[in-house]
Amino acid sequence: MTEFDAEFSAGNPEGIKLPLMSLREVVMFPRSIVPLFVGRDASIKAIDSAIENYGKNIFLVAQREPEMEKPGPEDVFPVGTVSKVLQILRLPDGTIKVLFEGLYRARWTGGELVADSEESAFPVVEVEPLDDDGEVGPEVDALVRATHEALEEYSKNNKKLAQEALAAILSLTSAGKLADAVMPHLKVDYRKKQEILENTDPANRLEAVFELLQGEIAITSMEKRIKNRVKNQMERNQREYYLNEQIKAIHKEMGREDDPQAEVNDLEEQLRAKDMPDEAREKALRELKKLRQMPSSSAEYTVVRNYVDWILDLPWNVQKETSIDIDEARRILDNDHYGLEKPKERILEYLAVQKLVKKLKGPILCLVGPPGVGKTSLARSVATATGREFVRLSLGGVRDEAEIRGHRRTYVGAMPGKILQSLKRVKFNNPLFCLDEIDKMSTDFRGDPSSALLEVLDPEQNSSFGDHYLDLDYDLSQIFFITTANSLHSIPLPLQDRMEIIRLPGYLETEKRRIARDFLLPKQIEQHGLQPDNIKLSDNALLDIIRTYTREAGVRSLEREVATICRKTAMQLVEKDDMDRTVTVSKQNLSSFLGVKKYRYGEKENQPQIGVSTGLAYTELGGELLMVETAIMPGSGKVSITGKLGDVMTESAKAALSYVRSRSDMFGLRPDFHSEIDIHVHVPEGATPKDGPSAGITLTTSLVSALLGVPVRDDLAMTGEITLRGRVLPIGGLREKLLAAHRGHIKKVLIPRDNEKDLKEVPDEILRGLTIVPVDHIDDVLPHALQAEADAIYTKMDEHTPLYCSLRKGSEEVSAQSH
Ligand code: ADP
Repeated sequence: MTEFDAEFSAGNPEGIKLPLMSLREVVMFPRSIVPLFVGRDASIKAIDSAIENYGKNIFLVAQREPEMEKPGPEDVFPVGTVSKVLQILRLPDGTIKVLFEGLYRARWTGGELVADSEESAFPVVEVEPLDDDGEVGPEVDALVRATHEALEEYSKNNKKLAQEALAAILSLTSAGKLADAVMPHLKVDYRKKQEILENTDPANRLEAVFELLQGEIAITSMEKRIKNRVKNQMERNQREYYLNEQIKAIHKEMGREDDPQAEVNDLEEQLRAKDMPDEAREKALRELKKLRQMPSSSAEYTVVRNYVDWILDLPWNVQKETSIDIDEARRILDNDHYGLEKPKERILEYLAVQKLVKKLKGPILCLVGPPGVGKTSLARSVATATGREFVRLSLGGVRDEAEIRGHRRTYVGAMPGKILQSLKRVKFNNPLFCLDEIDKMSTDFRGDPSSALLEVLDPEQNSSFGDHYLDLDYDLSQIFFITTANSLHSIPLPLQDRMEIIRLPGYLETEKRRIARDFLLPKQIEQHGLQPDNIKLSDNALLDIIRTYTREAGVRSLEREVATICRKTAMQLVEKDDMDRTVTVSKQNLSSFLGVKKYRYGEKENQPQIGVSTGLAYTELGGELLMVETAIMPGSGKVSITGKLGDVMTESAKAALSYVRSRSDMFGLRPDFHSEIDIHVHVPEGATPKDGPSAGITLTTSLVSALLGVPVRDDLAMTGEITLRGRVLPIGGLREKLLAAHRGHIKKVLIPRDNEKDLKEVPDEILRGLTIVPVDHIDDVLPHALQAEADAIYTKMDEHTPLYCSLRKGSEEVSAQSH
C-alpha cells in the first residue's frame, strides 16, 4: 500500500464523496504537482468546498470537449485523479491560481449537484480508487530500464525537463509510477494522456508511455535539426551582414565612401536633374531599381551601373551655341588654307543655305581628293567658323557594324558605338563630325557598317538613331557631318546619294610652294619651338624638296620633309646652344637635312620602246603616270594580264585585244595571228584601283606597238577608254591626270575629244607646258603615239624581226620567195 493509499483509507472511507472539478485539456496524474489557473465559478466553488469540507481533497477529471463551459456528468471522462489543494493564490481579476498534487487515480460513480446558484453549481461525486498493483518480472524491469534510457535521451533535447525532476523520475522503479511520472512531461494531446490515465495495467501503461516517449524523441530531434538549420542560415546571413558593415566602416575610415545605396540615390538625383528625353530617363530609373536590389560587388551591378552612367554622360540636350557669319567663315577658311577656291566657295554656299533655312537638313558634305590636300583640315576650319566642337572619326578599316552602332548589352564588355562615344567626349550634341576615309570601310560577316552609317547620315532618319547598346533613340540631327574620301568608287551608291561631293584636286608645284612657305613652314617652326628667323629656306631649296623628295598630289610628305628640316635645325640650335642662330637651307645643303634624293627629276626615265606605252590614271593618290608593257612571244594564243589591275583594267585589256584582232586586216596582220603567239600585258605599278576605265587606248597602243614592232614615243601620254570599234570614250579626273603628266615631263597628251570641255578647269600654267591633242578614234591615236609614219603602221612591214614577219599578211609569200 502506498503512502497515498494509506491516507486515502485513513481520511476517506469507502464510498467517499468529493467535489469534482473538470479540467480543460489537462489530465492530472497521480503524484504530480501541477499549478492550474481556475476561472469558472463552479470550479472555484468546488475548490472552496474541497478546502472547507473535504480536507482539501478534490476530484480532478478532464472534460471531453475543452470548449464546453458547463460540462454535465456525461461530458467528463470516467477516470480522474483525486488530488490535494496545496496552495492557492487569488488574483485581482477574480481567477485563482491553485497548486494541486495528484494523489491516486479513481473512477467516479454517482453524484449530485451542489448549488448556491445555477452559475456556481458543481457536482459532488462518489469516487472509487483504481488499483495500481504492479506486476514484476524481467520483462517489466527491461521496460523500466529502456524507459529510463529513453527519458535520459529525451531530456537532452528538452531543456524543460529539469535535472532534479529527471533524477526523481529515474529513481522510480515501479512501472506504473514511472509511467505516471513521465506523462506530465510529454507534450501529447490530452486525449492520449487520458488514455494512459485510464490504463490500470502498470506494465501495459508503461509500454504505452515508452512508445509515446520514443515518438517525442523522434520529433524533438527533428525539431532540433530544423532549428539548427535555420540557425545556421541565420548566422550566415548575420555574418555577411556584419562583414559588409565592417567593409563599409573600413571604407569610410579610408575616406572611400561608397555606400551603394547612397550611390544609387545620387545617380537618381542626377537623372532627375538632367535634361534628357523622358524615355531615356524612365529607362535609366528602371535600371536603377534593379541596381538597388543587387549586391554592389556583383558583376551584373557594374554592367547596369555602366549603362546608367552612359545615359547620364551623353549630351542629350546640351548644345553649343553656334553661329554662321559668312564673312567670318570666309576669313577663317582663307586664313587656314591657301587656294582651294572652289571647295571653299562650295562650303560657304552650303553654310549660307544653312543660315537661311536655320536647320541642318540637307545633304552631307563629302570632300573627295588625294591624301594631304587638306580635307580634314578644311573640315576643322568649318568647325571653327561655325563655332562647333570638332570630332574626327576615322572609318578606315572599320568593318564591324558594331563599331558604329555599338554592341547589344548582352555582350560582355558591350559599349555604345563610336558615334555616341565621340559625343560623350565632346559633351555637346551639335559638334562638327568629320567622318574620315569613308571609302575605306569594308564589309564582312560582322555586318555592314555602311548601312549603319546610312542611318547616321540620313537627315530623315538620324533624329532617332538606334544604338544597340543604348537601346534608345538618340537625336543626331543637330550634328554637322562632313565626310572625306580618297575616291568615290568604293563608297556604296546609296551613301553617295546622300552626300554632296566636293572634289579637292591635287596641288600644282607653285601651289605647293605657296602652301609650304605660308602655312606648313610657319606651323612646323612653331611646333618645334623655333622662331621664324631661325630658318631661312630658299625658294630653290623648297622647289627641290617638292620635286625630288616628294611625289604626291597633296602636301603631306612635303609637310613631313619640312618638319624634318625644323627638327634638324632645332637640333643644331640646341647643340650649339645658340637660340638666335639662323640656319640656312639651300639647294646645295639640302641633302644634309633630308638625306639622298628620293626621286629623280628632269631626267629622262624612258627610251622609246616597243610595247611600252604611257597612260594617265586617276588613282586615290591623285593623277599618276601609268606604264603599260606588252610582250609577245611564240606560243599558242594564250593571253595573260598581270599587275594588280582590278576588274576594270582587266576588261579594258580584253577589249583592246579584241579590237586589235578585229582590225588585224587593217594592221596588216594575219587573221589568225593570235593563235601562234602568247601575249603578256603587264602594268607594273597598277597597284591601286582606278576611278573607272580610262586605260583602253594605252593598252591598245602598247599591244599594237608590240605586234608591229614599232616603238612608242616616250614623251607622250594618253588617256581614254576604247570601244570594240576603236572609238575613244571620255574619262574622269582630267585635271589630275594632266597635273601628273606635267610632273612627269610629258610633252604631249592625247585626251578624248569629249573631255576637251574639261580643259578649262586645268590651270594655264599646266596647259602651257603641254600639247593637248583631242582624239576621237584609235586611228587618231596610233600615228601620234608610234614612232613611225602612219602608213608604216597600217601597211608596211618591218622586215627585220622574223616574229613580226610571220604575223604579217603575205609573210608566207615573203618566206617562200626567200627560199
Ligand atoms: P587630308 O585630310 O586631305 O588627307 P589633311 O587635312 O590632313 O589632308 O592635310 C595635311 C596637311 O596639309 C595639314 O597640315 C593641312 O593643314 C595641310 N594643308 C593641306 N592643304 C592645305 C592648304 N591648301 N593650305 C594650307 N595647308 C594645307
